[in-house]
Formats: sequence, C-alpha cells, structure tokens
Amino acid sequence: MRFDIVTIFPGFFESVFAQGIVRRAQAEGLVEIRLHDLREFTHDRHRTVDDRPFGGGEGMVLKPEPLAEALEALGIQRKQGNREQGTENRKQESEIGQRENAGLSTPSATADFAQDDKEKRGTRVILLSAQGRVFTQAVARELAALDRLVLICGRYEGVDERINELYCDMELSIGDYVLSGGEPAAAVVVDATMRLIPGVLGNEASGEFESFGAADAEIDVDVEGVPRSQHGAGGLLDYPHYTRPAEFGGLRAPEVLMNGDHAGIRRWRREQQLKKTLKNRPELLEGAALSAEDRRMLEALRDKGK
Ligand code: SAM
Repeated sequence: MRFDIVTIFPGFFESVFAQGIVRRAQAEGLVEIRLHDLREFTHDRHRTVDDRPFGGGEGMVLKPEPLAEALEALGIQRKQGNREQGTENRKQESEIGQRENAGLSTPSATADFAQDDKEKRGTRVILLSAQGRVFTQAVARELAALDRLVLICGRYEGVDERINELYCDMELSIGDYVLSGGEPAAAVVVDATMRLIPGVLGNEASGEFESFGAADAEIDVDVEGVPRSQHGAGGLLDYPHYTRPAEFGGLRAPEVLMNGDHAGIRRWRREQQLKKTLKNRPELLEGAALSAEDRRMLEALRDKGK
C-alpha cells in the first residue's frame, strides 16, 4: 500500500516512520511512504504557502494553488462536476459519520464514495481536519483495503475549502481536539492503517485480536499461527497482558494464565475484555458482537458492580 503525504513539514515524519513495525513494513515492501513538501509547489521567492483569510479574522489559510499543483503532480484530478460532486461525496461521508456515531453499521469502503472509476477505487484523497469523520479502527480497516492514500496535512487555520471540494474524498479527524497541524494525525492514520495490511504484523489476523478487532465469525479460522485460545475482540477492548516475573511489586500475575488450561485462559481473557470495556468504554458494548456466554458474563459483572 502506498501513502503520499503532502505537508509543509516533511522532516516531522523522519523519525516517526523510521522505527518499529512501520520501518519493517517499508523495508519488506509492504508499505511505501512518500513525503511531498508543499513548498516545492510554490513559484515565488519566499515559497509562500499561506495567505490571509477572506472575511478577516485570526490566522492564515493554506493557499489552494500549491496544494492543487501538488495533488495534480500525484495524478489526482479535479472532480468532475466540481462543487456538486464534492457536495454529494461529503453528503455520503456525513451520513456514514452520523451512522457511526449512532453505533450503526456502515457500508464498506468500496461503497463509501461516489467515485467509481477503476483507478479512483484504489485511491482515497484525505484531508486531515478537526471537522472530519472520526478516525476509528473500523475506518482504518476500510482504508487498509485500498491501494493508496493521499493525506493532506493542514496548518494555520486550515486549508482553503476549495481543495476539499475539488480534490478530497473525505475529511478525517483523529479526535475531538485541535492539533497545530495535520502531521501528527497523518502519522496516526498511516500507523493504524498499515498494521492491518496482511503480512505487516506477521500473522494475518492478529490485528483482529486487539482492541476494537473483528468478531470471531468474521475471522478466517484457518489463519496459521493464530492462537485459538483467544477471541476476536468483536469491538471490545483488549484484555490485560502479563509477562515474567510472576511476582512484581507485591502483585502476582493471574494464576489462570500460568497453569496451561487453554479453555480457562480463553474464558478469563473474555471476561477481562468485558470488564475493561464495561469500566472504561461502556458505549462500545452497544455495537459489540456478543455471544450468549458473553451476555451472561456481562450480567454477572454488572451484578457484581464491576
Ligand atoms: N481552524 C481549524 C478548526 O477549528 O477546525 C483548526 C485548524 S488546526 C490549528 C490546523 C490543522 O491541523 C488542520 O487544518 C488539520 O489539518 C489539523 N488538525 C487539527 N486538529 C485535527 C484533528 N483533530 N484531526 C485531524 N487533523 C487535525
């Protein structure tokens, strides 16, 4: 999968993408990350990328021309029908976002966007923005199925809205807070997306056994190397993990994890997933894939007041 990042601070990403799994995924050719310095697409002596906002007010706005030139150099074309098409795409995005916020299921990545020409289906142009659809593991899963993401990092007060209208498929927010720039958000989107690409974590399903992962029913049971003593997370949070030493800081690791009883381990981990989700993110239980046994455990946890 290829990621193209358009930014005025390409240096921001140097160490971010030079470590751990993302470095290895690049070395193994599973992921390619290209950085594009927006200032390379300016034509004045000062390499100006920003200007004052129409209508007045605080701050500066990223000018449309260098961004348009950068995107076109990446093979991204202006949308046909321009404003109407852009509005239609954003309307679909907004409906999907509203369904997600209401905990309802959403159409798959391929159905998400109005663009239906072949080349476009594999590429999404994303504007990082606090005003966007919220980035979740479900969105990361959709994006990981694509061939290429083009990520635009805003700065200052943001990006001239016509770039969004003319070139972008979606606005994506990494959470309800305001960053100084889109770079940390782009790094988050690349990291969370690329670890769901088959092969990146070394075993195809392991991403599904983590917090927010898919349900058992959605996971190929024959995937090699997956310890079947686990459950697919089914939208729940992960269970707690322990390693040696067995005794630390006066606390002993749970006995059940050390006695080799795989059914017992599976049951304990599932109960812990339910317990942690109930305590920290109870709203996730609404959309979680729960078995009859899960519901019984949940009832018992609620009765115990945990
Ligand atoms: N005026 C904008 C607003 O109130 O929504 C905030 C602009 S912010 C200072 C500058 C840039 O940071 C944005 O253009 C966007 O690219 C990025 N950014 C800020 N918060 C973000 C978030 N929660 N998710 C993704 N990108 C964000």
